[in-house]
Amino acid sequence: PAMIRLSGVGKTYADGTVAVHELDLAVAPGELVCLVGPSGCGKSTTLKMINRLIEPTTGTVEVDGEDVTHGDPVALRRSIGYVIQQVGLFPHQTIETNVMTVPLLYGESRSTARSRAHELMELVGLDAATYAGRYPHQLSGGQRQRVGVARALAADPPVLLMDEPFGAVDPVVRVRLQEEFKTLQRDLGKTVVLVTHDIDEAVRLGDRVAVFAAGGRLAQVATPAELLAR
Ligand code: ADP
Ligand code: ADP
Repeated sequence: PAMIRLSGVGKTYADGTVAVHELDLAVAPGELVCLVGPSGCGKSTTLKMINRLIEPTTGTVEVDGEDVTHGDPVALRRSIGYVIQQVGLFPHQTIETNVMTVPLLYGESRSTARSRAHELMELVGLDAATYAGRYPHQLSGGQRQRVGVARALAADPPVLLMDEPFGAVDPVVRVRLQEEFKTLQRDLGKTVVLVTHDIDEAVRLGDRVAVFAAGGRLAQVATPAELLAR
């Protein structure tokens, strides 16, 4: 059974723009699927229909066997972490507090949330003793992306949705982050849908790559090996 299943999913915005057209895609548990394609072809819209930041116009979205197409998205958000390019860290809170926010919201004690935050920082390659008390502006772009990933992992969601998560860091750091993230994702068995306009990134990270074409249509879904053989 799929962890995420999109069936005939479409989105037409209020102004008549057809962003996504009748999309079918199933993502297996523990799989990393990259959505790739030129700007404006509906990748972000597709991602946001999975966590219901956007409600589809047509079709159905299932997450972990549940139809989440309509209705209350609050429970859904708990099982989905979301990482975007411009990580919205709270600027006046320390890194530790930024990562602790979600566990605290879910009622964990401060001490449990703090040790969890430190664990997650180490997991994404940030020395907790050094960085826990720092503020977001004191970190490099690459380090802020790591904090974003740590914060998304804080609720231990089975699913991570990522929109250009490595777009804001320089190319050398990006390759390192990509490789580290792939290892982390495999080790933790997270199901990931990752949006990128960078075909190299998609091929490096994806178990499968979904190639979008203009008009929000899926041109093909293939493994990196299949794509490279063409
Ligand atoms: P991508 O992520 O591939 O760049 P998007 O999903 O952001 O593409 O956008 C798909 C299409 O929908 C584009 O033509 C974009 O201009 C349009 N679009 C995105 N958001 C809105 C909106 N809120 N209202 C109207 N059109 C939108
Ligand atoms: P990365 O490889 O993670 O992108 P950088 O090469 O950008 O890291 O930064 C290297 C070091 O400089 C890091 O340890 C980071 O903490 C530190 N650093 C970067 N920007 C700042 C800043 N504005 N204030 C303090 N330290 C910074």
